[in-house]
Amino acid sequence: MVFGVAGVPTNYKGKFAGVFPWLNSIGLNGFEIQCTYGFKISADRQEIIKKLNNNGFYFSIHAPYYINLGSLNKLVEKRSISNMKEGIELAKSIGVNRIIFHPGGGHENTPAGRIKAINQIVNDINQLTSEIDMGDVKLYPEIGGKTANLGSLDEIIEICSRCKYCYPCIDIAHLHAREVGSITNKEILKEKLLKIKQALPDKFDYIHFHAYTINYGDKGEIKHLKHGENMPDGSVGMPSLDDFVTILKELNIKPWVISEALDSQELGASYMLNKYKSLST
Ligand SMILES: [Zn+2]
Repeated sequence: MVFGVAGVPTNYKGKFAGVFPWLNSIGLNGFEIQCTYGFKISADRQEIIKKLNNNGFYFSIHAPYYINLGSLNKLVEKRSISNMKEGIELAKSIGVNRIIFHPGGGHENTPAGRIKAINQIVNDINQLTSEIDMGDVKLYPEIGGKTANLGSLDEIIEICSRCKYCYPCIDIAHLHAREVGSITNKEILKEKLLKIKQALPDKFDYIHFHAYTINYGDKGEIKHLKHGENMPDGSVGMPSLDDFVTILKELNIKPWVISEALDSQELGASYMLNKYKSLST
């Protein structure tokens, strides 16, 4: 089981190498490398990651936000394809086998426009993954947080069912936000995960989660909440991490869970880890 953080937590003040013992000391063993501004990791950091990978730690890579395979702009699409290839080569070179990416925006936000964009993403991924050696690398399209973004649950399932190398990254907070607060109880979230299991039975064991609570409005995501923080109206932040972790147990899902709680990822991740461990098997 993997519980971890996205990037170096803001509460950690020290050298990069020291963040891993710091995370280990609270039981965490997952780290999502934030390649927000490009698939670049310094040589020093690559060495640190290679040593720890599958040796006390499990790493994933979050692709740059400017990657946008669904764009109507052909130049953006082309650049995104070559960026993805760079990312896959980088991941292979340091032995990391999960790349998380956003399906993007830049499409026409109508039902037909969305279908066209998803088809484009599927074709691009199938083309690019046929052109290079994928090694053990899996690509994870992530649920988008805003209603207009590509990456609804159905769209993620669609991409994963049509692309051999794609696996679902289920950001439960984004899912809750883009559906304007849909996950109001445990059964609703469980049904959504069962839907993925039914659609992608061979890929379900490799599912990747982002889990934290989120502030949203009628267009979806507004802001990630801090761990334990209430919504601006005073109501409890959702989706419920207790329910989420309980479902992981009930459905016998191998957890690979990354917290993106605002300025408190390590608190969110260790909360979920401890809750998970407290549930009887
Ligand atoms: Zn993301």
